Amino acid sequence: MLQYKRVLLKLSGESLMGDQQYGIDSQRLNDYAEQIKEIVVQGVQVGIVIGGGNIFRGLSGASKGFDRVKGDSMGMLATVINSLALNSALEAIDCKSRVLTAIRMEPIGEFYSKQKAVDYLSEGYVTIFSAGTGNPYFTTDTGSSLRGIEIEADVMLKGTRVDGVYTADPEKDPTATKYDKISFDEIYHKDLRVMDLTATTMCKENNLPIVVFDMDTKGNLLKVIKGENIGTLVHV
Ligand code: UDP
Repeated sequence: MLQYKRVLLKLSGESLMGDQQYGIDSQRLNDYAEQIKEIVVQGVQVGIVIGGGNIFRGLSGASKGFDRVKGDSMGMLATVINSLALNSALEAIDCKSRVLTAIRMEPIGEFYSKQKAVDYLSEGYVTIFSAGTGNPYFTTDTGSSLRGIEIEADVMLKGTRVDGVYTADPEKDPTATKYDKISFDEIYHKDLRVMDLTATTMCKENNLPIVVFDMDTKGNLLKVIKGENIGTLVHV
């Protein structure tokens, strides 16, 4: 039994680096493509947003003297690069896919509209939403919330290298324990950082639940789709 019919999968740019310090690790990219195909063949409609932190972040650019708005444009272009890489990896394994862009740049990708997105999803294309929200001062987490809500996804699946939401940072505090489920209100109350507040609030206000899970272990995406309790569900 599948738990979800249409999902918005958020992948961080950083995790695309694999063990590298920068850029795209082809093994990691192919592993992601395989996991995505595994759920597509089950009939799940998949929308994807990828970050750009493996290539460029506006805020860190600004701290090195770049104009923030230009830096954010560079960050958004970085997400397009990652999206094209994933699109290509998916097509290489016969998984049909399309890249939509929040900023016009045909012929690199088609300009985003909800209608186009929903049409592609309904036809079984893995639809990759690139260039974030198309605006500076936002993040790809907010881009994911926005696109997830627009396409009326059942859930946002936030694939990270950590397997859920913890009471404290598990990489720093060995006593930290994982939540199976947590409400948005508890997230605010306990000041837990699942995503930035803009992104989190959009999900809460529009009833889009989030599952945080470890995407770097093969087979996990399918487990989440089947409703196995391997991550943390953030619910309204
Ligand atoms: N960005 C932006 N507007 C958006 C989404 C992203 O300006 O709607 C820029 C921002 O500079 C950000 C960069 O793109 O630092 C990369 O995105 P993000 O940091 O969210 O990627 P991740 O950290 O998930 O790899």
